[in-house]
Amino acid sequence: MQRIGLYGGSFNPIHFGHLIPALAAAELLSLDKLIFVPSANPPHKPAAAHLVAPEHRLEMVRRAIEGNPQFDVSDIELKRAGPSYTIDTIAELRRQYGLDVLLHWLIGADSLADLGLWHRAGELVDACRIVTMARPGWPVEKAIDRLRDKLTEDQVARLAGGVIATPLIEISATNIRHRIAAGKSVRYFLPGVVLHYIEQHALYRRVEGG
Ligand code: ATP
Repeated sequence: MQRIGLYGGSFNPIHFGHLIPALAAAELLSLDKLIFVPSANPPHKPAAAHLVAPEHRLEMVRRAIEGNPQFDVSDIELKRAGPSYTIDTIAELRRQYGLDVLLHWLIGADSLADLGLWHRAGELVDACRIVTMARPGWPVEKAIDRLRDKLTEDQVARLAGGVIATPLIEISATNIRHRIAAGKSVRYFLPGVVLHYIEQHALYRRVEGG
């Protein structure tokens, strides 16, 4: 059975905190393919002026993964109108791939903490395998505890079983955007090709909220 990993996010911009754990997850889960899925309009983040155009975010992911045949990117959420609900994406991909594939939805430990608030969270947990990658500052046990009143015992147990030991990389897109706006270097935070793209298009130069 084919094993597919799906990695959703705003990727604003994509960085090594996404890429290094993703590579480890692909190995640990023996994935045939890991597909990055940039979101159009993240339902759990406030309307954000600092969210650059989807075309930019998609292109930065494309460049970051270029040359790695195991990685791919999908514009499935960008083409769909309205908020990017993961359950809709999974349903669409399930129709596309059929029943004969194992679909894994990859998240960082910070996302696990509020998974209970996601649209139709219980159905989502039943529709695919949610895999959680470690993230500095986000203890997994606390996140799991927060899910107990939102999901069934069995669903929580499956989520806990889906936690994998990926490298801890303390990089966030927020920090990258702040550094760029402050005129600081983000070299070594993300692939050189992504940095080049950001510079070429003068992205993230404005201070957030300013
Ligand atoms: P922002 O700082 O803008 O909120 P972010 O760096 O958290 O962005 P997103 O694109 O929002 O990145 O994240 C997409 C997914 O990647 C989420 O599931 C998030 O938990 C995960 N993720 C992001 N950065 C890391 C990291 N350093 N380690 C592990 N997981 C991460």
